[in-house]
Amino acid sequence: MGIDILSMLPEEIEKDFVEMGEAKYRAGQVFNWLTKGVRDFDEMTNLSKSLREKLKERYTLYKPKVLSKQVSEYDGTIKYLWELKDGNAVETVVMSYEYGNTICVSCQVGCRQGCAFCASTIGGLVRSLEPSEILDEVLYSELDSGKHISNIVLMGIGEPLDNFDNVMRFLHLVNHPKGMNIGMRHITLSTCGITEMFDKLADENLQITLTVSLHAPDDETRSKIMPANRSRGVDELMRCCKRYYDRTGRRISFEYAMIDGVNDSEYHAKLLAKRANMVGAHVNLIPLNHVEERQFKPTTPGHMRAFIKILEEAGVNVTVRRKLGSDVDASCGQLRRKIQKIQG
Ligand code: SAH
Repeated sequence: MGIDILSMLPEEIEKDFVEMGEAKYRAGQVFNWLTKGVRDFDEMTNLSKSLREKLKERYTLYKPKVLSKQVSEYDGTIKYLWELKDGNAVETVVMSYEYGNTICVSCQVGCRQGCAFCASTIGGLVRSLEPSEILDEVLYSELDSGKHISNIVLMGIGEPLDNFDNVMRFLHLVNHPKGMNIGMRHITLSTCGITEMFDKLADENLQITLTVSLHAPDDETRSKIMPANRSRGVDELMRCCKRYYDRTGRRISFEYAMIDGVNDSEYHAKLLAKRANMVGAHVNLIPLNHVEERQFKPTTPGHMRAFIKILEEAGVNVTVRRKLGSDVDASCGQLRRKIQKIQG
């Protein structure tokens, strides 16, 4: 196996070329081809035949294959299932909003966090994605759909803070001015609350938005539905959120999937308001997506309204996430799961 050139930054490719005795500008030419989606050195027609042969020996290239592509009839949301080089598959969703197109990318094949309502974690973690594999979700979704991607959310399959180094490298790749050039301010990283990584993330000094999948403001409820809470606890999570905010000046968002009879009571709303105000967090409510092998049901609209009212009265900045792509299994892990089941 050669070197994964697709995970290298332009500067690193340049350095490698100089070490190989090649001209620096050649590296730029190669990077341009890669950014255009070309994945065969023989198609890089401005390089000499001998250089192409040399590159083929040194580096490996791969082009993800579309295993399935579904387009929502309601809202145009596109859901891709990509085949990776080792036969594993991950999902990517492209959503269109008034302000541009947002892509939701996966960072792992499966997930080890075990959240009780989530389809991605059924079957556990298979492996983490390479930086290039996450980047290619963005690049090939844009090339295939013809939709210019302006925003990225790391809210697909996997826990970004369990794949820290590769996710950081992906951010630098996708942000690179010579590459896709997507601004850090247009990127959101979502975590189930791996608190011991928050300081490390703050150290990176990125302008990204950090979102915490809270889903319950108290330990009893949260530990029941999110095993990651059992060793950490909500108090510790809040301390780490506050510290992150203080250190970066970047406001955190709480994701809160409303689950009927589990986390949607008045008690939960009041405690959530208190927590959000303490941390200066914005709250994003999500109507739970039904997952076939999970028993949870979404909160009723009436309950949701009452919940929102309590938050608003407490002065919390709250939004409800629009539900997109419900006809294309567009929530985490659902499509990969379906294919796994079909394949037995
Ligand atoms: N592991 C990270 C990234 C995944 S993001 C995290 O936990 O944040 C996916 C988001 O969708 C998370 O907020 C997750 O809790 C939420 N989610 C998972 N299953 C869901 C479901 N069935 N309905 C609504 N939201 C769900």
